[in-house]
This record gives sequence, C-alpha cells and structure tokens, in this order.
Amino acid sequence: MKKYVFLEFALLSATLLFTSCNNRGTVVNNNDCQDTSKVRNVILMIGDGMSLPQVYAAMMTSENTTSFERFPVTGISITKSFNKEITDSAAGGTAIATGVKTKNGMIGMSADSIPVPSILDILAEKGKKTGVVVTSSITHATPASFLAKNINRNNNEEIAMDIANNEHLNIIVGGGRKYFETRKDSINLFDKMTSKGWKVFDYLPEDYSDDKIAVITSKKHMESAKIRGDILPQSVNFALKSLSNDENGFFLMVEGSQIDFAAHDNDSVTMIDELRDFDEAINIALDFAENNANTLVIVTADHETGGLTMIDPNGKYTATDFHWTTKSHSALPVPVFAFGSGAENFSGIMDNTDIMKRILKLIE
Ligand SMILES: [Zn+2]
Repeated sequence: MKKYVFLEFALLSATLLFTSCNNRGTVVNNNDCQDTSKVRNVILMIGDGMSLPQVYAAMMTSENTTSFERFPVTGISITKSFNKEITDSAAGGTAIATGVKTKNGMIGMSADSIPVPSILDILAEKGKKTGVVVTSSITHATPASFLAKNINRNNNEEIAMDIANNEHLNIIVGGGRKYFETRKDSINLFDKMTSKGWKVFDYLPEDYSDDKIAVITSKKHMESAKIRGDILPQSVNFALKSLSNDENGFFLMVEGSQIDFAAHDNDSVTMIDELRDFDEAINIALDFAENNANTLVIVTADHETGGLTMIDPNGKYTATDFHWTTKSHSALPVPVFAFGSGAENFSGIMDNTDIMKRILKLIE
C-alpha cells in the first residue's frame, strides 16, 4: 500500500512537472523544454506620445494586421508625474526607466534631485548587454532618462557627456552629433568614446560584432519617417543581432520618438507614418521573441500627445479624419502591451513606475 501511494505520488509529480513545463515552457528540441518564467532578454519599446487613440489610428488606417494586435497581454499605465497631472517626456521617461516619480523636466533623478539608477544601469550591473535605439537626438528626454542624470532635459551637452561616460552601454543609435562634436567646452566626445573602445558611425554599419557601437546619424533629431526611411526597424534588427550574442542576455530600449513631434503639430499624416515605422520595429522585436525563449517585449508610452480623438468620419477613417484637441500632451493613460516570457504580469491598471519594477522581478 505504501509503495502504491509512493508510486502514485511519483506519477503525479511527473505529470505536474510535465504540465508546468508545457504551460510555461517553449519546446525547443523534441521533448526538451525551457523554463520561460525567467526573463533573460528585455526589449522595452516606447512610443512617445502614443496612447490608445494613436494605436487605434494606426490600426484603422493599416491594410495589414498591426504589431499591436499580436500581443496576448495588455494593461493600462497612469502617466502623471510627481508634480503634474500631465507629464512631459522627461518625468515620463524617468518613471519608466527608474521606477521613480519626478518633476517635469528632470532626467534620471528623484523630485529632490537625487540621481537614481535606471533599469539599463541595473541590468548592465547584472552582466547584461545594453542598447538604446531612437529616432530623436540620443540626448532627448526619453533616451536620456535611461542613460543620464540631469536636473534639466535641455542640458543636451551635459547629457551627451553622461552618455560618453556611461560604462554600461553597448549600442546607441540616434541623432544628436552636435552635442558630441561641436560643444561649448570644445571637447570631442566621439574622440573620447573611440579611445574607450567605441566604434562611432554616422550610418548603420554592416558589422554588428563590435562590443561598443555608436550610430549617431544626424546633427540633431533624425529626419521624419518619410525622409529617413527604415533606419528604426533596421537598427532594431542590427541591435538584436549584436546584443543577442551573449549568453547573459540583454536590455534594449527602442523609442518611436517622433510620433510625439507629429502629434504636437497635429499632423495626422506624419503621425501615421511614424506609427507605421514604429509598428515595423515592434514586429521585428516580436519575431525575435518568438524565436528566442526567455525574451520579454513590452510596448508602452510616456504620455499621450495631441488629445487625439475620432469623431464623425466621412465614411471609413483616413489619416485626414482625425481630430486633435490640443497641441500639448494630455493626461490620458497609455496602453502597456506585453509579449513573451513573463508577459502575464503586465495586465491591469498600473502606475508608470510599476513597469520597470515588474520587469526587474522577472529577471533570472
Ligand atoms: Zn511631447
């Protein structure tokens, strides 16, 4: 009888093990399966100024299924800053990057001006490779929140100095050469970076095997999507190839920076172009996550821009049918889309400071 109970227990355990493996794991080779409850690679993507109206605008004007519709898990993030109902990209970026609420305009520090580590800093300390890919100047508020500490988002040259001194970084792609090359202090930060092992380019190179690659394409921000072409999705592809050659995993932040610019201009056609471009970049990240277990992809935003809404179309909505209610940001919450390992932890209503905390909890 004892033996029988033991046998039954052993069978039950084996079944449980098998079931839990099936539920959480991805079958890699035949009967082999990996525990995907632990996250090794994190791809965090931020559509600047992209709330639900912008996402739905992309969906309504697209011939194809958008990347947003590929996510199994969605949540909602409250975006207000330490001192305002309506955040800017500095406080919004800092909340997502560091998990700390700060005042509008501040980068990588708490409201009382204490510098705080970003998720990029923390994961680099854990041995992960890191990258930041944006279409704005690399010194702009969102990327700066991950890479720098400054009391004022407009201190582009100081932020560039922080980036050049950042020991944690492997890849940066963006604009902003001016803040590295033609500075008030006459220091050429690219020379400084080169001496520390960086390869610096003004175009996306073929070879992604170097350990430290800076692709800074333009004087300030990159051109708008129509003119700059597909450098954002290409750069995501490049960064993923480069960062994934390390068994410790990686953290990659990608920003569709100029959705916000077009929304400030209440320019629906350009905004749709920017969303299309970001959508393509997201698809590349999702394809990577599908083929690489233990990868988590999060897509969210720092705030909504333009107070975009959809009323009374002339038949089917086109880019010219959208209505704007402000040239500034609004207080609207933003969506959180999650895919891959640990995605189920990102549903419900959360604060923007919860996103990085939830990611960190899942890291192996
Ligand atoms: Zn803005």
